[in-house]
Amino acid sequence: MNAASSERRAFHEFVARHQRFLLTTHINPDGDGIGSEAAMALWLEASGKTVHVLNDSPVPSAFSFLTRTRPMDVFEPELAERRFSESDGLVVLDTSNRSRIGRLSPLLDRHVIPVAVVDHHASHTNGFGHVNVIEPEASATAEIVYDLIREAAAPITPEIAAALYVALMTDTGSFRYSNTDSKAHHMAADLLRYGLDPQRIHAQVHSHASAGRLRFFGEVLSSLAMHEDGKLVVLEAAPEQFRRHGLSGSDTEGLVDIPRTISDVEVVVLFSELEPGWVKVSLRSTGRVAIGQVASRLGGGGHPHAAGVLLGGTREQAKAKILPELSRLLAALEPAGGTKA
Ligand code: AMP
Ligand code: MN
Ligand code: MN
Repeated sequence: MNAASSERRAFHEFVARHQRFLLTTHINPDGDGIGSEAAMALWLEASGKTVHVLNDSPVPSAFSFLTRTRPMDVFEPELAERRFSESDGLVVLDTSNRSRIGRLSPLLDRHVIPVAVVDHHASHTNGFGHVNVIEPEASATAEIVYDLIREAAAPITPEIAAALYVALMTDTGSFRYSNTDSKAHHMAADLLRYGLDPQRIHAQVHSHASAGRLRFFGEVLSSLAMHEDGKLVVLEAAPEQFRRHGLSGSDTEGLVDIPRTISDVEVVVLFSELEPGWVKVSLRSTGRVAIGQVASRLGGGGHPHAAGVLLGGTREQAKAKILPELSRLLAALEPAGGTKA
């Protein structure tokens, strides 16, 4: 906590020292990336700062209700040059891996701009910022943003509360993944004091799928394969399937989490080949196997129980790299207490 506190202090000094902020998050942003940006932008603006948000990828429609009052820009070369030139501080949220900010990353080589990283990923904990508030014990980056706002004694408006709630809710899988703890529930309870309607927020986030996305989920799930005595589920999606259903990369969100519900499953892996020759590997553990290192060893990252990596090559090549590692981890596992003799 001490190291974290000194970095948090450094972050507050970073905010005090600068006036024109640029905020960004990882490619294919999720609820935590967008929610943390929205909350931080609203907080900094209320403190009299100028704030712009620029991401590599567009805001997924599930989270667009958070950006209605203050829109976020999508990368475009000229706009990015202008934003980097006019800003005096960059805050990177929900990733501490520089390459994950996508097309914004090369601009850091050409522009001298102080960077603060605020993140909760266990990989890349050194951080590439001048200030690095990286706290892997946080359930979501938004949990850190919430703490920072309260440390600054700044008001939490209903809009800020909604953004933080969406981030916390999505990163914890609606308070059911292994990162859900007492602090996450206390934070949620506190945010509800600002007049949020959790049922409505849930509906706003989870009612944006297209019929094609569900058909795609159906196809991928119907050909799931069970390995390692039912402990490992393998899913695959081919470029042709993305094309036929008119889907993009962020449309796989949530797919890898569904087979967690099969009894006795320890690990789920999804190989999604969005375009030929590029396979996004998504890994999930139901809690007993730490799969984070499998992704980080190959250049990706994430958390011990939810991680990913993008691999060049075919799905077969990706499987050859990943599946033996998972088999090894599963072989080393003690028998599950109580469920099997
Ligand atoms: P996903 O499977 O895309 O939902 O990602 C699961 C977790 O792994 C998230 O915390 C991501 O930030 C992280 N992650 C996914 N892909 C990568 C990657 N290529 N490099 C680093 N971290 C990743
Ligand atoms: Mn994220
Ligand atoms: Mn996160």
